[in-house]
Amino acid sequence: MVKVGVIGLQGDVSEHMDAAKKALENLGVSGEVAWLRKPEQLEGISAIIIPGGESTTISRLMVKSSLLESAKRLGEEGLPIMGTCAGLIMLSKEVIGATPEQRFLELLDVRVNRNAYGRQVDSFEAPIKLAFSDEPFTGVFIRAPRIVELLSERVRPIAWLGDRVVGVEQDNVIGLEFHPELTDDTRVHEYFLGKAL
Ligand code: GLN
Repeated sequence: MVKVGVIGLQGDVSEHMDAAKKALENLGVSGEVAWLRKPEQLEGISAIIIPGGESTTISRLMVKSSLLESAKRLGEEGLPIMGTCAGLIMLSKEVIGATPEQRFLELLDVRVNRNAYGRQVDSFEAPIKLAFSDEPFTGVFIRAPRIVELLSERVRPIAWLGDRVVGVEQDNVIGLEFHPELTDDTRVHEYFLGKAL
């Protein structure tokens, strides 16, 4: 039985919970999805999602609750973790535009730029290409960070907007600039949860 945990301190938590439930259904896998607020709740969890929101707030609350440290350790041990938008920032090794007090899990060898798209194009939808599907996927970008550099060969691009990489994976960890939880399409969640089966 798969138990998916969504870090539920700030951001679009319920949208990710719904998407994960639907993805489990589509995969024909029995499981449950939990709203995580404390490290004790990580017991028995088979996959973690860090939602989009505001990475400064998510960082502050993850440090305060000790979820940052515990989730980082589980990620290092191989537990599947996916972060979208602010969640991608939380997973990155290097962040341009971070505040001095921001802390990260540093599980993805990428450099991202927070708030890189600028005001005029701060939110948009565009078809993106996925490494694991032939059909295009609707990428919803909301004040998205930009992946500006892959820092090691361990990082594999899995999503592209034109020829720009907008999603990556590094073994058990996935980071996406866009928000798959804001569409009805669960292909990305299904791919991620495949790592937990
Ligand atoms: N720009 C936001 C940040 O730095 C992320 C935006 C989002 O998650 N939609 O946290």
